[in-house]
Formats: sequence, structure tokens, C-alpha cells
Amino acid sequence: MTFSELLEISISTNLEFSEVILAQEMMETGRDPQKVKKALRKIMHVMLEEAEKNYGKEFNTLTNLTGNNGAKLSNAVPYMMSEFNHVATVVAISMGESNASMGRIVACPTAGSCGVMPGALYALKYIKKASDDELLKSFIVASGIGNVVAKRATLSGAAGGCQAEIGTATAMASSMITYYFSRDPVKVGNAAAISLKSLMGLVCDPVGGFVEVPCVKRNGSAVNVAIACAEMALAGIESVIPFDDVVNAMYNVGKSLPESLRETAIGGIAGTKSAQEIVEKIREKWDSKN
Ligand code: SF4
Repeated sequence: MTFSELLEISISTNLEFSEVILAQEMMETGRDPQKVKKALRKIMHVMLEEAEKNYGKEFNTLTNLTGNNGAKLSNAVPYMMSEFNHVATVVAISMGESNASMGRIVACPTAGSCGVMPGALYALKYIKKASDDELLKSFIVASGIGNVVAKRATLSGAAGGCQAEIGTATAMASSMITYYFSRDPVKVGNAAAISLKSLMGLVCDPVGGFVEVPCVKRNGSAVNVAIACAEMALAGIESVIPFDDVVNAMYNVGKSLPESLRETAIGGIAGTKSAQEIVEKIREKWDSKN
């Protein structure tokens, strides 16, 4: 189903938008909406638990190219960021580092992009004091946005570049924040479209194929894109291009990306001289241990 179809149902039925998304899931898969809601609540709680547990922690990651960035940001007093952005960014980076150290994460929509949604979710809960039920409605709306991308395009970096992974996570987080503050599905569509357009063309270029550089810090910057785009949509700024068209465009861009920019660790950041030297050193270190 397209986003515009979801919007039409919401307008014609006057149903709350998260209920429309649950009903659509039932029509497509036959799953009981109450069971889906229960499962999503559980996933949301796992995200919040892990965000709390890992907030600003240091990690021993596979390559040690990351692992202390969340701790650094958590210990720093921000120069410019609001508390909301600061907390969201610490969580986003910490979750990426937890993933790189084999911690428990929710792949949302993928493991590489696992920090963006928890960052926004945790900031809503702890800075805006969102209740569980309010958060869940917004979380369901975000899942509907992710579902539109999954059905109409791709969520995989190997297929569509990082725009499909972190781009989708950002669209989901931006819609979640927008729905939380406005309960307005039209604004949700604008937030999702503006944020996905902001990351359009983002390539998948993990150094050495390890989901650490640039992935971890990209989660941290992306959650701020989500917040900024939500703020724009909440202020009434509209996306000239509707979300469904943006999703189609993202898919087409993804298909036209060369293989070197789709998770092969050949191009982009992974293709730089310094990246190659770093990977060589990691290999030598591992070889010397075996
Ligand atoms: S660069 Fe590739 S592996 Fe890393 S988060 Fe983006 S899509 Fe995932």
C-alpha cells in the first residue's frame, strides 16, 4: 500500500493514523492488529531498555575503530545542541557501537541503521516525558513508514545504498517525532519525504565491510536530520514531492548506484587510501594472533 492510500483511508474513516496502519497490516498479512500492537510494544521496550543500558558506554568493538564515541559525546557539554538532540545523538551512536560489539539491538530497519529510531524514541521518553501509549502510537506510525519503503523499494544497503538503510531509519524517526507532536498524518508524510530526500544518494561504504566506519557516526548525524525535518514539517513546511514519489526515486537512485557503492567495501569512504591502510593493519593484527 502507498502512503497516499493510507492517508486517504485515514481521512475517509477518521480513524487514528496508527489504527489505520494496524488495519492495513491486517489486510495485507491477516495478522491480528492487537497481536501486532503487542509485538511492536515489545520491540519498542527492547529499544528503550538497550538505549538506557548502553547510554554513553564504552565498547570493545570488532575492529576498535569505534567504541568510545558515544562516551565522548555523553561526557561533553554541548555547545549548540538542545538537550533533546544531545540525548538522541548519544543514544544513536551508543546503539551503533553496541551493534559493533555484538550487543543486542533492534534492526530498525537494519543493524547498520539501528541507532536512529532508538535515539529519537529515547529522547521523546526522557526529555519530553512521553507516556508509553503515546510513544507506541507514534512508533506504529514509524513502522508504517518503514513498511511503505520495504514494500515499494528496498531497505538494504547492498541493494540500494545507505539511503535505503539510514535514509529509511531517518524517515521513520522523523515521522515518529512528527506524529508524537502533531497527530497529523499529512505532516508525517512531509517529515518522511523531507528526511528521505535529505539523505537521497547516500552510498553504502563500510570500511573493510565492518559496520563501524562510517556507519556508527552516520547514525548520530542522521537522528539530527530526523529531528530537523520533523521540526520543519511541524512548522507547516511541505514536501513539494510526495513521500511515495520520493521512495520511488530513492529506489531508482539505489538501482543506478555502482556495485562499488553498495556494501562491497570498495568505493566511497571504504575506497580511500587511509581506509585501505587501516584494513591492512587490522588484518596483520588478526593474522599475528592466529
Ligand atoms: S554504510 Fe552501509 S553498512 Fe553502514 S549503515 Fe550505511 S548501509 Fe549499513
